[in-house]
Amino acid sequence: MRSTRVRRVPKQQPRQGSESRRDFEVFGHTFLQVTYNTFAFTSSVWTHFWQPSTMAAAAAAVVAKSPKGSLREDLTCAICCDLFREPVMLACMHHFCKPCISRYWRGTQGPVTCPQCRKEFSSKQFQTNYLVTAMVEKVRATTSDTYIKNLEKQLKETLESHRQKKEDVINSIRRDKDKMDTIKRFGADLEARVKGEFRALYQMLHDEETCVLEQLRREQEEELEKVQRHLEAMEMAVRELEDNMRALQQASGATENVMLTELPQLRSCVLVDVAPEFDTNAFSNKYLAPLQYITWRKMFKSLEPGPSPLTFDVDTAHPNIQVSRDKTAAVECDVMIPHTDHNKRFLQCVNILAAQGFQSGRHYWEVEVGSKPKWDLGVASEAVDRQARIKLSPETGYWTLRLRNGSEYSAGTQPWTRLQIGSSPQRLGVFLDCDERRVSFYNAGDMSLLYSFTNGPRGKVFPFFSPCISDRSQKPPPIKLLHYPHVALSG
Ligand SMILES: [Zn+2]
Ligand SMILES: [Zn+2]
Repeated sequence: MRSTRVRRVPKQQPRQGSESRRDFEVFGHTFLQVTYNTFAFTSSVWTHFWQPSTMAAAAAAVVAKSPKGSLREDLTCAICCDLFREPVMLACMHHFCKPCISRYWRGTQGPVTCPQCRKEFSSKQFQTNYLVTAMVEKVRATTSDTYIKNLEKQLKETLESHRQKKEDVINSIRRDKDKMDTIKRFGADLEARVKGEFRALYQMLHDEETCVLEQLRREQEEELEKVQRHLEAMEMAVRELEDNMRALQQASGATENVMLTELPQLRSCVLVDVAPEFDTNAFSNKYLAPLQYITWRKMFKSLEPGPSPLTFDVDTAHPNIQVSRDKTAAVECDVMIPHTDHNKRFLQCVNILAAQGFQSGRHYWEVEVGSKPKWDLGVASEAVDRQARIKLSPETGYWTLRLRNGSEYSAGTQPWTRLQIGSSPQRLGVFLDCDERRVSFYNAGDMSLLYSFTNGPRGKVFPFFSPCISDRSQKPPPIKLLHYPHVALSG
């Protein structure tokens, strides 16, 4: 709404009588309220009265009586009791309709009086107050039925829009709170899982420690027992020797009185074993070893999931794929290899599966791709059509990562999702969580995550590989399935 500010009366303007002033607002308009004690007017005030600034102050004075009351009331003519028509102001600053005051004074000769305050004026003099005129027009306009209806409509609409906005904000708050609950629930669940993973490692480590310490205790006891047995034998031998010595001494003393015909009966002495040797080296060798590494190697075998030792399923290999004798390396070749017909075999695309299928639990395996410029790998549903040429995507039963032109990595979505991978991984890790339906790819060099499908497979899947047909000018490097301990020890 446009705001109209009534110009203040400059301070240097002469003012007589008592005056009070303050700002107030009516219908969004700020007015300066100036209240004069008009009975103290002098001739100088009369001159001042006609100044524009005084007119503005006078206009404000019209509404000064009840700033919080009805403006309409303030702009009502005391003669006709209606809104001013052509409002004019007398020197006493009272306003009337021009027709009303003209009619009131009609026929009066000489001095006239203000109908309101009875102030007497020498002539019929008044001033048109355009500011009050404008205010009256404004009030007239803003109190018309159409205006009020329109205003009511606007109020209703604004209220409705505020109610709608409030509802939206409340919904947004509810969503935020739900989101926070989800984050907390999700975080707590993940925390429990992480704790579980570490607890399993601690347990493995604890079990291993208990086992090693138990073995140490047992071996120590065996050594001690050996010596203990020898010690007891020696003590027995001492006692027997002492008995014999006593017997001999008695016999020796008796010879003075009695003829000794034979040696006294002596105890046969205990045969004393050779003292057992304690080989400190043999005893400590097992425990002064690279114990941490040995333990870690044992733990590695127990990891859940640790790298699975996969092998290729030759029956699935496209005829242009050659598989090594140990079934851990596959390479594309120019010549079609005569294979036995098998409905598992890929006939269109140069693909091959591993022999190990999974449909529950969590599994991880590592694949060496070396510097091959082009490959696809991941998992494929058991049910994929192997006779047809198919675009690899989760919709067709493939969750794959692929490399093209040596540096363009993509996730096998439809369309492909290009990935920005800084270094070119030589080894890839594939993690399959059947229960969470997640297939993730890692750079097995540093275990950085490359991509994760969260709409993973349902049902049985097999590790999938495509060595692709690449540049024939070089001998193509194979795709290798990495096996423990190679996985654990290299890189
Ligand atoms: Zn009137
Ligand atoms: Zn008056």
